[in-house]
Amino acid sequence: MERPLKLAEQVATAIKNDVVARGWPVGANLGSEAVLIAKYGVSRATLREAVGILEHTQLASMHRGRGGGLTVRQPAAHVVARTVAAHIHLAGISMDDLFDVRIHLQVLAAQLAAARMTEADVASLRALVQGPPPLDEHIEVALGRASGNPALALLIPTLTRVTGMRAGAPQGAKLDGRSAKSRLEAWRRIVDATVAGDTAALERRMRRSLDAERSWLEARSASIVPKLQDSESGKVSERIAEELAAEVRQRQPGEFLGNEAELLQRLGVTRAPLRQAIRILEHHGVVRMREGSTGGLMACAANPSEIVDALALYLHYIDADIHAIAEIRGALEVEAAGTAAGRPDIAVLLREGLPTPNEGSPTAFHTWVAQLAGNPLTTLLVRALIGATALKPDGTSGATPPASEETTESHRRVLEAIAEGDVSLARHRMRRDLAGCGAGKIARSSS
Ligand SMILES: [Zn+2]
Repeated sequence: MERPLKLAEQVATAIKNDVVARGWPVGANLGSEAVLIAKYGVSRATLREAVGILEHTQLASMHRGRGGGLTVRQPAAHVVARTVAAHIHLAGISMDDLFDVRIHLQVLAAQLAAARMTEADVASLRALVQGPPPLDEHIEVALGRASGNPALALLIPTLTRVTGMRAGAPQGAKLDGRSAKSRLEAWRRIVDATVAGDTAALERRMRRSLDAERSWLEARSASIVPKLQDSESGKVSERIAEELAAEVRQRQPGEFLGNEAELLQRLGVTRAPLRQAIRILEHHGVVRMREGSTGGLMACAANPSEIVDALALYLHYIDADIHAIAEIRGALEVEAAGTAAGRPDIAVLLREGLPTPNEGSPTAFHTWVAQLAGNPLTTLLVRALIGATALKPDGTSGATPPASEETTESHRRVLEAIAEGDVSLARHRMRRDLAGCGAGKIARSSS
């Protein structure tokens, strides 16, 4: 169930829609604090909270003083990466789930690169794995670029970076000489298979390489506390946010974490950074502040809505087109359908008549299947990818098109295969559905 938006969130959303509708005018001044207070008819406190949300997602920032105002910022890939990373960390998404998604995206990137690479790409990929380690770039990132898919070129470095942060390894952590040599060798074999277009070999080699990376990170990170920020700029508020997030992971959704006075005392901090930390956690849907005399902080099941939104906006900003998005959705959702079909618990629930979402609504249905597969990162990405294609050219969310009978029937058949536990058929039907109805339908609705 989606919680109702707070007033500050509504104002932040209105400003965001305005920025997108104006074609993301980087550097434009949206107005001073006084102008915005008048425009949205809210209190100074509410506006400041809304600005805090926009600044956290780096969509705009407030400059005070003469000639100041809320200024539109250029969205940067590293900012999106940090937001996604923070969410994965604060929401406690596991390394299993993270690597699961990375492998699927990486195999897709290599397959696309194999089909699309130019001679120049071949030369630069080979040059990359010629040199002595350490390389200045991850081969996975280079393959993401060579895939010719801008959304993949964004998501791969994002998740590569997240992995290191999640594991507590500082960015640019060095492998020891022997590991570095064997990684370079593994990457050479991946490049070789990619250039040769040997997709079976490249899938196998890519998996092995990522498995090795994972073991390395796990061995290394056993004694390290994960860091939310991978820079020195980690502020007090972010450290408090981490501490609270760690506590939330030990609690049940809805559990009371304490009122402000209790939290101030327990954490030994001052009010301003505590409030900022709570705002960060609310942004990631990890906690909720309860108002009133029995008020205080509640633990929540992590809600990625804000992050989904930020990622969808960024994909929209970089002009990831419908084909690029469909390629990634294909990889993630076909896999999700197969995984769901392989889960006996899901089959039982479906046969017992688990209430299904509106099967005709592409958004509801496809998000739901991703959820059935049980990987929250897959669900987050599928929602963002659908969100990015559903954004109209003016950036606001388009209405979901009415379902055709064909769509509804196709969705029903996907679910039937999942309920029967028929993994290959579930995959096949999802692939056919995405080719026929899913991505294409959404694309048409947005034009
Ligand atoms: Zn569909």
